[in-house]
Amino acid sequence: MTRWLVIGGGAAGCVVGSRLSEDPSNEVTVLEAGPDHGPDHSAADVGLFLDDATRWHADSTVVRRTGGAAEHYWQGRGLGGSSLLNGPVMVANPADRGVAHLMPLEPPTALGALGGAVVTAVSDALPVMLARRGGRRVSAADAYLRPILGRPNLSVLADSPVARLLLGDRAAIGAVTESGVRHLADRVVVCAGAIRTPALLLVSGIDTPGIGEGLQDHPAFAITLELTPESVDETLPSIVATIDRSGAQILVMNHLPGAPHYGSLIGALMTPTSVGRVTLDPRTGSTLVELNELSTQTDVERLTDVALEGLELASHSAVRAVAPRAFVDDRGTSADSLRGDRVAVRAWLQTHLTGYHHVAGSCRRGTVTDDFGEVHGYTGLYIGDASLFDGVPPINPYLSVITLAERLSAHWRDSTVT
Ligand SMILES: Cc1cc2nc3c(=O)[nH]c(=O)nc-3n(C[C@H](O)[C@H](O)[C@H](O)COP(=O)(O)OP(=O)(O)OC[C@H]3O[C@@H](n4cnc5c(N)ncnc54)[C@H](O)[C@@H]3O)c2cc1C
Repeated sequence: MTRWLVIGGGAAGCVVGSRLSEDPSNEVTVLEAGPDHGPDHSAADVGLFLDDATRWHADSTVVRRTGGAAEHYWQGRGLGGSSLLNGPVMVANPADRGVAHLMPLEPPTALGALGGAVVTAVSDALPVMLARRGGRRVSAADAYLRPILGRPNLSVLADSPVARLLLGDRAAIGAVTESGVRHLADRVVVCAGAIRTPALLLVSGIDTPGIGEGLQDHPAFAITLELTPESVDETLPSIVATIDRSGAQILVMNHLPGAPHYGSLIGALMTPTSVGRVTLDPRTGSTLVELNELSTQTDVERLTDVALEGLELASHSAVRAVAPRAFVDDRGTSADSLRGDRVAVRAWLQTHLTGYHHVAGSCRRGTVTDDFGEVHGYTGLYIGDASLFDGVPPINPYLSVITLAERLSAHWRDSTVT
């Protein structure tokens, strides 16, 4: 019998808990910081839960630009992790789809007025695929954990935030929760997400070089569109279509959370070169998350290109017919004031950068771990989540995280020596 402890019941943790417990010679415990919200029958819509503070970590902040102020950063909390809050736009190559076959995929039933206008305006705009069934969200917990909760060798403990890892002689032997409960294990898999995984390793005194280094998100901007009354359709998902280019994406939002009369074009750089990091403040011990976005000139120029294209799209006659006015800030500055003006767009991006909430790459495979997620210098200590990627994936990363966790779990399960 091998005792596995999985820390974090998010997208990756649900897969790892499910797959490892398929082998009856494994005893698997999943510790999740947040609650079990129960089966998710909500519409699969980003932003639906942003006013439900039980679904996200209230204390998550990032510094987006070097020297800038810390701002709140959405990260899911509870069984399912960020799959409780996300798009959930699923982008995958066919190989990924074959591995992550438990996640259902469904397109929106219609594109809505704005989505339809964009598809008319741009030949390569495509409807998104969403992780849902019958119009309802299927979180990673719903797909992977909920159907197998009765397995005798699986314990899923919600409301169990881990304070630190328990270590023997350069070996992981378990973890202790914030309330002081100790969980002993032969193998520990940390799946606390790309911000909290490195933070937990650092606070536990893991000294492998590279922990926290290389964090990335997709840097993004938003152009807000004021819809005509007849173009408003809240019955559709917010995100209906994307325009995908090599290294860039423009995502079409049919309506905004809490503001159905507004849609949005969100443009993002999908292959950024700037890298950030997660560190512990030496004075307070608290987690410091610096994304360091647009710190290379390449990123500045490429995101400027995407923004110039987004501004043109917002002024296209098909889009104007359903959204006559477009804004680049919350003071009502017209998007037309930036159109075609590279210098002005560059300046605007410096102050109006936003993000995709796709953090990854903070404990990279090959640097912090071996190819199979085992942390260099320690036995029995593994990482299984978005931290492992070699930077942020060039696509919306949810399905890539699921696929990675599937592949690692299969390896760990098959290589377990009892
Ligand atoms: C608002 C939002 C929108 C998004 N939209 C999309 C999208 O449309 N398409 C897409 O592809 N991707 C999207 N993503 C990204 C996608 O959801 C993530 O890439 C993916 O969920 C990351 O998986 P993970 O397992 O690494 O982390 P998470 O899913 O975040 O899971 C980490 C889990 O660990 C738990 N945890 C943290 N610390 C501890 C601790 N100390 N002890 C115990 N548990 C702990 C957390 O509570 C959480 O449940 C979005 C993300 C957000 C936040």
